[in-house]
Amino acid sequence: MAQQTPGLKCPQCGQFIPTTINELLSAQALKCPYCGLELTINRNESRQAMEILKEVDTAAKNLEKASKFNG
Ligand SMILES: [Zn+2]
Repeated sequence: MAQQTPGLKCPQCGQFIPTTINELLSAQALKCPYCGLELTINRNESRQAMEILKEVDTAAKNLEKASKFNG
């Protein structure tokens, strides 16, 4: 299994900011150690984004099924 360092990419300097799942779940904000940018964690927005991604995924699968029927 590939080892993955949890973290996110800084939108300002593009450096990878390593963090922990625990920190992401409990912290209100993360600070980029490279440029000092403070990233506010908005969990409600993230959840909405996840829901949208799920819908897109479902739609893509349905489309795949439909094209197999027609093809
Ligand atoms: Zn940064």
